[in-house]
Amino acid sequence: MSASTLSMDLGRDFPEIRDAVARICTGFPGEYWRRLDEARAYPEEFVAALSGAGYLAALIPQEYGGAGLPLRAAAVILETIHASGGNAGACHAQMYVMGTLLRHGSDEQKERYLPAIAAGKLRLQAFGVTEPSTGSDTTQIKTRAERDGDGYVVHGQKIWTSRALQSDLMLLLARTEPASATARRAEGLSVFLVDLRQAVGNGIEIRPIDTMINHNTTEVFIDGLRIPADALIGQEGQGFRHILDGMNAERILIAAEALGDARYFIDRATRYARDRQVFGQPIGANQGVQFPIARCHAETEAADLMARKASALFDAQEPCGAEANMAKLLASEACWHAAESCFQTFGGFAFAREYDIERKWRECRLFQTAPISTNMILAYLGQHVLGMPRSY
Ligand SMILES: Cc1cc2nc3c(=O)[nH]c(=O)nc-3n(C[C@H](O)[C@H](O)[C@H](O)COP(=O)(O)OP(=O)(O)OC[C@H]3O[C@@H](n4cnc5c(N)ncnc54)[C@H](O)[C@@H]3O)c2cc1C
Repeated sequence: MSASTLSMDLGRDFPEIRDAVARICTGFPGEYWRRLDEARAYPEEFVAALSGAGYLAALIPQEYGGAGLPLRAAAVILETIHASGGNAGACHAQMYVMGTLLRHGSDEQKERYLPAIAAGKLRLQAFGVTEPSTGSDTTQIKTRAERDGDGYVVHGQKIWTSRALQSDLMLLLARTEPASATARRAEGLSVFLVDLRQAVGNGIEIRPIDTMINHNTTEVFIDGLRIPADALIGQEGQGFRHILDGMNAERILIAAEALGDARYFIDRATRYARDRQVFGQPIGANQGVQFPIARCHAETEAADLMARKASALFDAQEPCGAEANMAKLLASEACWHAAESCFQTFGGFAFAREYDIERKWRECRLFQTAPISTNMILAYLGQHVLGMPRSY
């Protein structure tokens, strides 16, 4: 399918999945998420319910025990979780991290890991890319994996590696050739599947980072970690390219979460604006309250169209870098505007934890920063889509 013949379902697609996921979410109300947020705890029960019903294996092909669904179905799952007031950040990475293994792993690697991941016996949800001293400049990472006998020895440090303490496996990006020896910035990097069950305490130390949201994110210190040669995924030196597909999937899925949050805020704000009586009438009768919410609805619907276009291109195996980035940009902003207008609509009650507005407001701020910040998307569009000079 080419972009010109691209077909998108513009309605309530995958209705059975939406209904089934929404039913699971009713078992995990605001009170559940609030309790975890306060304790900074991992939503074990929610993740177990989601994997038990097979949703975390949505993208794993049926031959490996998964559901073999398109990316759009995974987006619908995540959007539904967020629209219900939950947060899929605890487990969403399983969906896109696995893509690198699926597309670039050997048959032996896929057979070793994918059925166990699909069955919920193994968790692959840690993605070690970002480093403290290089940030958005991913190709300049310093973590290095050096050939040693029949394996590699790794030294370095990762930051913001989310869910590393709740994952059995971690996809790790490391330099296998010095940057100075490669012709292009993106070369000389390799991607490895690290078994954290063996690595922790044997070359890897993981420390949680205290953040403003309950995201289970960590710092990973790597000092002389030995990994076997068959931990390498795909071709040595081509790791950056191998993870790019996964990054487009990640942006599309994060856009879906942001859209779910936007819908949550718009729904909560609309209901509150109808019910709350001040000066003898519902506050929603005032255009100053009503119009910002209506504008957020329009922004959300527009971002949704871009997210569906990006998914449709991804599922048709067409290039989708521009659309995946634009979907993430537009959805993260639509969501933030919806969060702000909901917060304002709730007046003082937005600050009361029991209403969940402040928690969701804090949580959705992340989408403008991670997995890629707004400026980097604008730089990508300026340079690669519009042909302007490189700014960095
Ligand atoms: C809660 C959380 C979870 C995360 N989870 C993961 C994870 O699981 N795995 C992982 O690998 N990473 C993860 N990240 C890291 C995330 O992807 C990075 O924080 C993000 O990519 C930005 O990198 P940085 O924080 O180093 O910011 P920097 O790169 O230091 O940038 C700081 C600011 O400067 C701007 N900036 C930098 N360079 C330019 C430029 N040339 N032009 C214009 N503006 C520029 C940026 O846009 C940004 O606004 C997570 C981060 C957070 C906060």
